[in-house]
Amino acid sequence: MKIYNTLTRKKEDFTPLVEGKVGMYVCGPTVYNHIHVGNARTFVSFDVIRRHLINSGYDVTFVSNITDVDDKIINRANEEGRTAAEVAEEYSNAFIKAMDDLGVMPPTIRPYATKEIDAMIGTIETLIANGHAYEAEGDVYFSIKTFPEYGKLSGRTVDELLSGTRFDVDPKKHDPLDFALWKAAKPGEPYWECPWGKGRPGWHIECSSMSAKYLGQPFDIHGGGVDLVFPHHENEIAQSECCSNVTFCNYWMHGGMLLIDNEKMSKSLNNFLLLKDVLANLDARVLRFLMLQTHYRSPMDYSKQRLDEAANSFERIANTLRNIDWEVEHADLFAEVDVAAIEKLDVAVAAGVDSYVAYMDDDFNTAAALGEVFSIVGAVNGFIADGLSGAEEVKAAQAAHDAIVDLMGRFGIDMAEESDETAGWPAELLAFAKDVAGYEGDDMLAAGEAIISKRAEARKAKDWGTADAIRDGLSAMGFAVEDTAAGSRLSYGG
Ligand SMILES: [Zn+2]
Repeated sequence: MKIYNTLTRKKEDFTPLVEGKVGMYVCGPTVYNHIHVGNARTFVSFDVIRRHLINSGYDVTFVSNITDVDDKIINRANEEGRTAAEVAEEYSNAFIKAMDDLGVMPPTIRPYATKEIDAMIGTIETLIANGHAYEAEGDVYFSIKTFPEYGKLSGRTVDELLSGTRFDVDPKKHDPLDFALWKAAKPGEPYWECPWGKGRPGWHIECSSMSAKYLGQPFDIHGGGVDLVFPHHENEIAQSECCSNVTFCNYWMHGGMLLIDNEKMSKSLNNFLLLKDVLANLDARVLRFLMLQTHYRSPMDYSKQRLDEAANSFERIANTLRNIDWEVEHADLFAEVDVAAIEKLDVAVAAGVDSYVAYMDDDFNTAAALGEVFSIVGAVNGFIADGLSGAEEVKAAQAAHDAIVDLMGRFGIDMAEESDETAGWPAELLAFAKDVAGYEGDDMLAAGEAIISKRAEARKAKDWGTADAIRDGLSAMGFAVEDTAAGSRLSYGG
C-alpha cells in the first residue's frame, strides 16, 4: 500500500510501526457551530481511508478529538447568553449525529479536550522544564527558535513563514511565531487551575497530548484538512517532538479543500454550506458518492449540477442491483445456460475487484476504484439483458450483485436496502390496484403485479382504453411499465 506523505512530499510504501496494526489520529471539530460540507469531506475521506485499512486486514485504532473549549465557543456563548459548556455540548452532539447520518464510523476513541486537561498540563510542564516553552503573565508560549526543524511539514523556513503571515505584535512573546500552549483566563471565561494560575489550553497542545496519550509516540498516521498544515500541524510536531525527543508520527495525510461552484468557502462570499442543510433533502449516500469521485488530496468542486450527476450515477448502480434481483426471481431455471457468457462475467467481476483494491492501495484512489464498480455494473447489465437461464447463470448474476454491494460497502455506502425494490413506492399504488384490479392486500409488489396482469389481460383482449388508462394512472404516480425478456414489471422514479 502506498500513502502520500505531506512531510516528505512523496508517495511512500506504508509500513506500520507494529505489524498488522495502525494507530491513526484525525483532528476533530471545534464545536461552536454545525459543520459545513468542507469539514464533512475531510471526515468522509479519512473514514474511507480507515475502512480500506481495515479491509486490508489492519487492526486500526482511530482517535479523533472534540475541541470543546476555544475562543469561538466562548464568543458564541457570550453572544447567546449561555455557558461555553452548553454551546459545546449542543454542537458536539450535533456533530456526532451528523457523522452518523453520513455513515462515518465512530472513532475507536473520541477524547474531549476538556476531559484531558491534566495530560496537557503535563506536556506543557515538560516543555517548560526542557527549555522549549516559557510562561508570561499566566500565558505559556512555545519558543519556536528552540526547534530548528520548525516549518518542515509546511515546507517553509521560519523567515518565509514570518513574511507570509500577518501577526499582531504581542509584547509577551519572545518571537512573533511563538504560539500559546496555555492562555490565562479572562473574567467570565472557563478555566482550569494549573501551576501558572487559572486558564485554559491552546488548541494545538490538545492534539499533541491526546494523540500521545492514546496512541503513543511515534504513531502511524496523522490526518486532517489541508488548511491545518500550518500552523496547527506544524505546531503539533514542534510540541510533541520537543516534549519527547522522538518523531511525532510517520505519515502525514491531508485532505483537499471543498469548493462551492469553484469558489472557496468564505465569510465574504457567504457561501458556507452546512452539512445538515445539505442532508435535509438528500440521501447521504449520494453526497459520499460525489466525494468519492474526487481524489481525497485534490480540491473538490461541489455544485448542484455535480450533485445531480452523482445522484444519477448512484441510481444507475442501485437500479442494476434491483434489476439483478428481479431477473434472479424470474429466471427460467430449465432453459439452456450460456457458459461462455458466465465465464466472461466471472472474469469481469474478479478483474473489477482486483483493480479496485489496487487503486485503493495506491494512495486511496477512490475515483478510479469507483470506475471498477461501474465496469462490473456494465458487465452484469449486459449479462442479464436477455434474462437469466439455469442455476449457473443465476449464481453468476448473484455473485456480481454481491461484489457490487461489497465494494460499495467498503466505501461506506450501504446498498443492501436496494434489494427492496418497493422502498419509496407511494401508498396510493395500493388504492389504484384495488380500483383497476380488485387487489385487496397491502403488499406493494403484489399490488404492482395485479395491475400489470390486468393491463396484460386488457391488451390481449384489445381493450386499448383500459390498457391506456392503467398506463396513464401508473405514470401519474411516477411508475413506468418495463417490458423485459422475462415479462413486464413496474419501475418507479428515475
Ligand atoms: Zn489537531
